[in-house]
Amino acid sequence: MSGRFSRSAAVFGTVAVVAATLQGSAQADGPDESAPAAPGAGERAGHPPQFPPGRPAPPKQPVATGFGGAVATVDADATAAGMRALRRGGTATDAAVAAAAALGVTEPFSSGIGGGGFYVHYDAGTGEVSTLDGRETAPAAATEELFIDAETGEPLPFQQARVSGLSVGTPGTLQTWQEALDRWGRRSLADALSPATRLAARGFVVDETFRSQVAGNAELFADFPASAELFLPDGAPPEVGSRLRNRDLAATYRLIARHGTDAFYGGEIGADVAATVQDPPVADDADRDVRPGSMTVDDLAGYEVVEREPTTVEYDGLQVFGMGPPSSGGSTVGEALNILETADPGPDDTTAALHHYLEASALAFADRNRYVGDPDVVDVPLDELLSQGFADERACEIAPAAAADKPVAPGVPDGEYTGGDSCGPEAGAGAVAHEGMSTTHLTTADRWGNVVAYTLTIEQTGGSGIAVPGRGFLLNNELTDFNFAPSQGDAPDPNLPGPGKRPRSSISPTIVLDDGEPFLALGTPGGSTIITTVLQTLVNRIDLGMDLPEALAAPRASQRNTPSVTAEPEFVESRSGEQLRSLGHSFTTTPEIGALTGLEFLRGGRIQAVAEPERRGGGSAAVLFPVR
Ligand code: GLU
Repeated sequence: MSGRFSRSAAVFGTVAVVAATLQGSAQADGPDESAPAAPGAGERAGHPPQFPPGRPAPPKQPVATGFGGAVATVDADATAAGMRALRRGGTATDAAVAAAAALGVTEPFSSGIGGGGFYVHYDAGTGEVSTLDGRETAPAAATEELFIDAETGEPLPFQQARVSGLSVGTPGTLQTWQEALDRWGRRSLADALSPATRLAARGFVVDETFRSQVAGNAELFADFPASAELFLPDGAPPEVGSRLRNRDLAATYRLIARHGTDAFYGGEIGADVAATVQDPPVADDADRDVRPGSMTVDDLAGYEVVEREPTTVEYDGLQVFGMGPPSSGGSTVGEALNILETADPGPDDTTAALHHYLEASALAFADRNRYVGDPDVVDVPLDELLSQGFADERACEIAPAAAADKPVAPGVPDGEYTGGDSCGPEAGAGAVAHEGMSTTHLTTADRWGNVVAYTLTIEQTGGSGIAVPGRGFLLNNELTDFNFAPSQGDAPDPNLPGPGKRPRSSISPTIVLDDGEPFLALGTPGGSTIITTVLQTLVNRIDLGMDLPEALAAPRASQRNTPSVTAEPEFVESRSGEQLRSLGHSFTTTPEIGALTGLEFLRGGRIQAVAEPERRGGGSAAVLFPVR
């Protein structure tokens, strides 16, 4: 499915583009973070500030087009922190780390140094795409029965597993920042942490997304005094428009700026992390059975970010690079694109293109569930999953006029394929596991042409719900991304817990090159819908003639090999939604899917930075110079 629309649509597209620079924005180039807060606006009339007044939140614009570098995140303060790094001569990596550190303050329920993530980098000097795996890791003492209740022999209920020390993986985020800066940065970690430290010390303006994320976790946070102290001022979620400080996190960032990442991996912060995991500090009056975990200071001291080979597929003459295992993002997006490469839905037939998109997603998910796990522990047939031969064989399962019954069975990526003349053998069917809906994604580019797509997470919105006392950040519950019990029938499950193992992820930071030059960079949160959202946005942009802002704003649908497609109401109600129903697709609606950010590299050195116009309250895109 390819080549039916011009890829240069965005150059001439009809979507209004607002050039935004954050030059001169209040947050951007402030004095040193230790200076006292300046008085200012930012408190909404009728809501007295809970803390002394400070600077207003910088403006939020979802689309910006221009030159010299760009940042797109879900949050205006984080985008401002990234832009500050670019303005000071920093690289895409300096900007990405500065933005990520700021997200640890303003998006603490989706990111932060208590979590992990995956980092994809394009180096303009060498033309190489590299990837860093900063995934959280099970402690050395973890076993396959991590989430099995010893008394009943049954898997723990999800919420009980989530809110426990058991679910907390050894965090990889801080080491990812340092590793990325060592390879591709021009500035120090201390410099990257500076705007975020200032933001935490002086406070930021609470928006609707922040408040609703606290409200959704209020009962949980109330059971952990350290979490309640941070996020429930006066015992309740902070008001929209009020200013929230996180002095503990400011102090933690300062400590790291002074002593480096050793303060965390083996140092005093790490000691507090391990103590919290081993004995979660629950409120005296909490009616909650919170199981301890086994993470030790040695687990932290031994943590390693791993450089992995990126996944690569050709699609419509483009080179699509993604994140390999333990993320299933690159392999699943890549396999689905290979399947779509064989499809020929007919000119301008959007419904047929979407039918193929849904069917290809289901097939690729069946294979993901059956074959993908931590490559250091299980044998992942990655080359075969990404081979065109396997995709041709899988594409045979798609009937142009009828949706297949779901779940579909996985294929057999054994190197011997039918060539698409007949459908290949099938392996036993597998179940679909639970996955969260949190996380955040950011995308940056610099004046040299380097590009970063970085997705970071603490798994659920609010992670485990357990903050490290006195340190200002939440611990992840990433280990619940493991399957709690075997899910693949008689076949081995690649994603069961194990000592030092990394749980399978869906995170899909993606960089697309056109003849070796950057064309697109994108990613999103959303649990396993991450994969389908990245895939659908690529289909929208490359096959359906949308420019990037349109591709991103379009209603979403996610088929992850389940009986019905999960879709946004606007998708179900669209003409294509109606036509897809007549092909046999059924839908379950959900208010929104994902919160994507991305960049498109236009002609003549222009960059278009794009964030969500609406979802999760809208994101923030900026470029260094609106005109050359
Ligand atoms: N924990 C999920 C993963 O790594 C991401 C969670 C989310 O995006 O909500 O795949």
